[in-house]
Amino acid sequence: MLTLSDLMWEPDTGWREAAACSGVGSDAFFPASEEASAAVAAKKICAECPVSEICLQYALATNQAAGVWGGLDSGERRRMRRRMRDRERRRAS
Ligand code: SF4
Repeated sequence: MLTLSDLMWEPDTGWREAAACSGVGSDAFFPASEEASAAVAAKKICAECPVSEICLQYALATNQAAGVWGGLDSGERRRMRRRMRDRERRRAS
């Protein structure tokens, strides 16, 4: 399971070459609305993406506040970070 301390990021962006969203317009990945339905099209593409795990790790490591990354929208990533932080605090106490 991924932890916050795993999020040491090395600036290797080669994974982007294999991204399923390469060549797809960014509107789907950065919808104007935060409604869950606005991110459905992007999430379908992410579900088929061979680099979704590293994409999500990149978004978490660089604290991307907007858009769909690794199949998760911004709210889902915030909740994931919170769960990871809480788990690490519990483990440390
Ligand atoms: S997981 Fe989604 S946003 Fe990330 S590279 Fe793949 S298609 Fe693009």
